[in-house]
Amino acid sequence: MNRTDLIIIGAGPGGYRAAELAAKAGLKVVVFEAGHVGGTCLNEGCIPTKSFARNAEIMQTLKEASLFGMNNLSFDFDFRQVVARKDEVLAQLRSGIETLLSHPNVTLVHGHARFVGPHTVEAFSADPHTEEAFSVGSGSAAAQYTAPFIIIATGSVPKALRLQEPANCRVLDSSDLLQLDHLPESLCIIGAGVIGMEFASIFSAFGTKVTVVEFLKECLPALDSDIAKRLRKVLEKRGVAFHLQCAVTGIKDKEVTFTDKKGKEQTVEAEEVLMAVGRAPRVSDDFQLAGFDFDTRTGIKVDDHYETTVPGIYAIGDVNGRQMLAHAAEAQAKIAVTHILHTSDAPANSPFSTLNSPCTVVPAAIFTHPEAACVGPTEDQLKEQGIAYECRKAFHRANGKALAMNETEGMLKLLSEPDAGRILGCHAFGAHAADMVQEVSVLMCRDTTVTQLRDMVHIHPTLSEIVLAAAEQ
Ligand SMILES: Cc1cc2nc3c(=O)[nH]c(=O)nc-3n(C[C@H](O)[C@H](O)[C@H](O)COP(=O)(O)OP(=O)(O)OC[C@H]3O[C@@H](n4cnc5c(N)ncnc54)[C@H](O)[C@@H]3O)c2cc1C
Repeated sequence: MNRTDLIIIGAGPGGYRAAELAAKAGLKVVVFEAGHVGGTCLNEGCIPTKSFARNAEIMQTLKEASLFGMNNLSFDFDFRQVVARKDEVLAQLRSGIETLLSHPNVTLVHGHARFVGPHTVEAFSADPHTEEAFSVGSGSAAAQYTAPFIIIATGSVPKALRLQEPANCRVLDSSDLLQLDHLPESLCIIGAGVIGMEFASIFSAFGTKVTVVEFLKECLPALDSDIAKRLRKVLEKRGVAFHLQCAVTGIKDKEVTFTDKKGKEQTVEAEEVLMAVGRAPRVSDDFQLAGFDFDTRTGIKVDDHYETTVPGIYAIGDVNGRQMLAHAAEAQAKIAVTHILHTSDAPANSPFSTLNSPCTVVPAAIFTHPEAACVGPTEDQLKEQGIAYECRKAFHRANGKALAMNETEGMLKLLSEPDAGRILGCHAFGAHAADMVQEVSVLMCRDTTVTQLRDMVHIHPTLSEIVLAAAEQ
């Protein structure tokens, strides 16, 4: 049996950040990873989609080239090259994480970890068909490890609709779509959440005919409803077809059947079908041997330190189902490691024994083109909770830089307590929406009021002047 200070299961943003912090603080760490380091975010999520999104943005700009005085432009679009560029980006970032995990206090075990007791984990081959125990890296050949502290960072898996009859053809999930070696002529996307909308934006810019079928009244239900609607309208103008309030009933021979809001049956035929109906925490039966509370729908139950119901065992990132975002996983890693260091005998000289927990304000962005972003409650949520608020708006079309960039489609809403008081939230769409919302998040972490924001000088000309313009309303 190998003993160590901390076991981490999963080397995604939650796992590798936790390993880095704990190792630098002097803890001996063993990290198990069944796939590639970097997790969903690097290999199948944030980074490959943003690599594609950059191609889509360039395509969109090229389509508008005549507005900038470049006439009769012609170009060939090589999808294989788009995929190759994406793979190069992934390889470069992966090697960065491998370097991070080569810290002398970290042992990386390439294998599938499973609990065999409350504080004991066993490594098996990453290939589920070979039940052979093994260990790679600087660790010993024995497969069992025990530690007083364990962090579970196993991420999430794509969900699929339960249809009365299973599909008789291949239905892609987001990882499959990122692996395609050809550009489909048409794509039917089931689900208009973040993943569905990002792919709709990307593939329609590439020239694929995209149809989105969504059960709810509007796309992106977590967003401000006004912003979600405006964003959908932009994509509609670019040729994406939306079927809202429609329930998918079957998928046969790449034909998606659904019932529309009037109860009428409709069909969409497409070369590829993408199932994008959300993600579920990646939990497994062996968790029962560890003894903490979890369920397949909501994930592992944790407290504010991300500790499970078993002391010393933590769950961070997508697997606890709180906020399925890479930066949330990293922030949770910091909170969990801080708690471990305070609970354990952290080396006295460690700078991390006094590590502060990060601010709990977590912004989010959707990298469609144009992008959207949000932080804090929406107007609808404030109304539901009976919280008094003020809403100030500013628009891209009134911003000098946005006009110069020809990025006039966009809006920002700043929500605050009455009388230009403490900022409660910010919701935006349009160019640089994520950067603007990031600025407001920082201000929210410091309990800034709208009155104080009005006195903060913003560089001219920038899109962040839109934040100031909203505050000044
Ligand atoms: C298409 C797509 C786009 C996305 N875009 C964004 C975005 O733009 N911004 C954003 O913030 N978030 C985005 N996300 C979400 C983001 O990827 C996740 O929130 C983030 O990866 C969660 O990090 P994690 O550390 O919890 O888990 P993961 O990144 O999923 O990592 C978990 C790791 O654990 C490993 N593992 C699982 N079980 C075991 C086991 N038993 N033994 C050993 N290893 C195991 C897995 O192989 C995996 O590498 C996107 C997701 C998808 C699918």
